[in-house]
Amino acid sequence: MSTLADQLSAVQARIDAAARRVGRDPAEVTLLAVSKTHPAETIVEAFALGVRHFGENRVEEAAPKIAAVRSMLGGRSAEIVWHMIGHVQSRKAEDVAQLFERVHSLDSAKLARRLSRFAGERGRVLQTLLEFNLSGETSKQGLRSDAAAWQEVEEIIALPHLQIDGVMTMAAVVDTPEQTRPTFRGVRVLRDELQRRFPQCAWSQLSMGMSDDFEVAIEEGATLVRLGRALFGERQSHLD
Ligand SMILES: *Cc1c(COP(=O)(O)O)cnc(C)c1O
Repeated sequence: MSTLADQLSAVQARIDAAARRVGRDPAEVTLLAVSKTHPAETIVEAFALGVRHFGENRVEEAAPKIAAVRSMLGGRSAEIVWHMIGHVQSRKAEDVAQLFERVHSLDSAKLARRLSRFAGERGRVLQTLLEFNLSGETSKQGLRSDAAAWQEVEEIIALPHLQIDGVMTMAAVVDTPEQTRPTFRGVRVLRDELQRRFPQCAWSQLSMGMSDDFEVAIEEGATLVRLGRALFGERQSHLD
């Protein structure tokens, strides 16, 4: 079995190669290590190897882990950027606003109002991406790029304690990575539309691409790739 250090350098080389293939600077692509189901010790090990961005999808799991990492790393833990990548229930908004620097999975104005309020109470501004469902899968969360969504976006971007700066999407489960390309390309089209409709936001971040399809996502403009299995191996539990 290869070590985390081996996996990380292999992944980094693949990120660099994918970016170069399309003439992008690899530094534009942030590796987000998805640490869900893995213990705090694994996060600390990845931190020692230079990883600073970690993604979790469940508040119940993330809260004790973030606390454990803080106590293991002490002051250095402030270098970590914690990303919430899973669906957030309204009643968890307060915890999310406290624990995470960035939320990828904002999919309603209702949740946005709560996150903004709780972030404001803590004197924070949450970096936030709007999650869009472009794969057409009805089981997936996310806004659909339609008139109702533009209304919600309008309301969300006016909130004072959220800094909306991009879009997140999940591709459908497919047989080959290449099949995800139309979805990722659709994100760029969506981004251009958002830029036209809401020029007051930056729309610079595209969170797309996971272990099976991150190279295609980078070729199509991803700035944040969310990698679990490619770094840490298969997950034991099914809490994903
Ligand atoms: C689990 C998860 C990932 C990482 O998936 P891998 O296939 O292990 O890379 C990325 N994004 C979200 C939203 C996830 O829940």
